Amino acid sequence: MDIEQFRKAGYDAIDRICDYYYSLRERPVVAQVEPGYLRPLLPERAPEKGEEWSNIADDYQKLILPGLTHWQHPSFFAYFPTASTFEGMLGDLYSSSTANPGFNWSASPACTELEAVVMDWAARMFGLDSAFLNDNNAGGGVIQTTASDSALTAIVAARVRYITEHPDTPLESLVIYVTTQTHSFGKKAGLVLGLRVRALDVDAGLREHRWALNGEGLKAAVEQDRAKGLHPFVLIATVGTTSSGAIDRIADVGAVIRDNYPSIWLHVDAAWAGITLACPELREEAQLSGINEYADSLCVNFHKWGLTNFDASALWVRDRRRLIDALDITPEYLRTKHGDAGTVVDYRNWHLSLGRRFRSLKLWFVLRSFGIEGFQSYLRRCISLNNAFAAHVRDSPIFELVTPPSFALTVFRLLPSQALPNGDGDVAHVNALNRSFWTALQTRHQLLLTQTEIGGVFCVRLAVGAARTEIADIENAWRIIENVGQEVLESLSDYTVAKQSQ
Ligand SMILES: *Cc1c(COP(=O)(O)O)cnc(C)c1O
Repeated sequence: MDIEQFRKAGYDAIDRICDYYYSLRERPVVAQVEPGYLRPLLPERAPEKGEEWSNIADDYQKLILPGLTHWQHPSFFAYFPTASTFEGMLGDLYSSSTANPGFNWSASPACTELEAVVMDWAARMFGLDSAFLNDNNAGGGVIQTTASDSALTAIVAARVRYITEHPDTPLESLVIYVTTQTHSFGKKAGLVLGLRVRALDVDAGLREHRWALNGEGLKAAVEQDRAKGLHPFVLIATVGTTSSGAIDRIADVGAVIRDNYPSIWLHVDAAWAGITLACPELREEAQLSGINEYADSLCVNFHKWGLTNFDASALWVRDRRRLIDALDITPEYLRTKHGDAGTVVDYRNWHLSLGRRFRSLKLWFVLRSFGIEGFQSYLRRCISLNNAFAAHVRDSPIFELVTPPSFALTVFRLLPSQALPNGDGDVAHVNALNRSFWTALQTRHQLLLTQTEIGGVFCVRLAVGAARTEIADIENAWRIIENVGQEVLESLSDYTVAKQSQ
């Protein structure tokens, strides 16, 4: 393809993408294909001779689009959103156009410098303490691929810090602390690093503190483990867990760490909910003061609820030397004048890989085009849409909220009290009922939700965040959910009996 052919193909691609966005609402959210659908449609080998571009572009539409689940669909309520924007898309396009691996300052100064600036913009938008700014030359922010990478990077830095402070610690006695509600990446980090992981128990607790770790819980665990000769060296605390949006008490656990176990690194995983720090009225709930006072590192994914196309995971650290101590290896072929002089940031020392995509470009585009106000109003709209959904659940005689709504996430289940032959305590019975509900709900392809299990309770999650979701989509989702719930109940004979005997 030459430059003029690219110009034409590029215009055509944008046209097709616009048509796709216009068509989103009419499409089923979930891909309507069976496993293995694609192989029979494609030749066994790459073509011997190059093909016409128009055929290739057509095949994307014919063969690939039907195999996609549409995460930008206004009725996509599954997992957490990957809210994307055209600004972000254009950022990725420009980034691809120069294909810059940006591993050190010299590789392309703009890649490093823009990242340092937009990470400071984001830090200021979130109200983060100046300790986390690149500007101050002590802490700083770096864009990683995912929250899993951000956490792994923090854990590696934490391990080096701990071993430096306690040189005789046997590696097999090190323990990564997570909670039973932490994202599965905590266990994965243990697998990758060959380290023990302990998932601290958190129980339902007080209503507003459900499934949250507090200082007391942490202290008890550390004392137990230390008595066994183990060395917890990092705690992954979460603001907005994946299952239920639970929020660990950051100031509380932070104070316990600082007063008693200062060598434990506190990593705050706010992959989804951290974005709410952009709204001053949400900062208390999102634990800003605890983060500012105690966190060694903080992760917020812009690629979830932050209007920036996947991938863009922001990681801030209070002390950049900890990353560099853990990750700097400089063979001759990577030496540069400025790197040697220590006058520039070489981001290759702030993450696990060498090369890195120019992700700050899309974040820059998004923050400028939306402005902080635009960003805030999008977040507030998502939360009010979620509140509208949660209100339906609250008012419904056949559903209940399993946990209080968290920002833009509602966790609920079918719970008609009259359908409980053995009273409220029969968890297995209600779980089975909800599995039937869930199975039935999955046959409705106009919307997509996902399921979870919290403390043995099977439930369904609705997460609002796709950039084009409107109140009509929420009302539509509620209608479908309510109907499916009714249908499931009506198919149960004991429910009918219970209802008639009322
Ligand atoms: C989604 C999520 C993660 C994992 O995100 P990736 O960026 O895909 O690694 C981690 N923690 C929380 C709380 C999440 O919601």
